[in-house]
Amino acid sequence: MAPLEEVGPRLHSMGLDTARDIQAVILTHCHHDHTGGLDHFPHTRVIAPRENWMVSRGRRGMLMGCLPQRWPTWLRPELVTMDGPPVGPFPASHAITADGRILLVPTPGHVDGHVSVVVRDNDITYLLAGDATYSQRNLDAELTDGVTNDPRTASATLRAIKSFAAAEPTIVLPAHDPDGPARLAARAVYSPSALDHRR
Ligand SMILES: [Zn+2]
Repeated sequence: MAPLEEVGPRLHSMGLDTARDIQAVILTHCHHDHTGGLDHFPHTRVIAPRENWMVSRGRRGMLMGCLPQRWPTWLRPELVTMDGPPVGPFPASHAITADGRILLVPTPGHVDGHVSVVVRDNDITYLLAGDATYSQRNLDAELTDGVTNDPRTASATLRAIKSFAAAEPTIVLPAHDPDGPARLAARAVYSPSALDHRR
């Protein structure tokens, strides 16, 4: 990735000032490819799931695909726990905003303590799925990813996301899905296929 392709310059090219316009950075989990842009947010509130943070530090974290030795020295994320009420098929949640329209839900499996971000607008819901799935296609086929060492939990998470999207119009935005931006622009709601009951 070239320097100008990093998240800071990209936001700047969209007219956004990372210090002024970004209220918070939420880490769905701490894999190296999700923390690599933190250097662009030295003045921003950073929120991370406590359960994932605890397994991402030190040598254990390095073995799990994290690079704690490259985290910014100033990094002290606000650690949050899934201590809120169930949300649809998700057994717990954590509200980020006072009105509860932006909240975290547990989506473990890709890695322990992974969370996804739910953003409820008036007529549509966005699910920022992090790496709970790599693509809507994999989600729909209930295919777990090659990184997970807990496919059973990952599979249960995929089914929960499908159930969630079946209950309210949802745009699913996995972090690595190349089709995500087009779906977002087109406001393309995910219509989950039936859950695979053989699983
Ligand atoms: Zn990951």
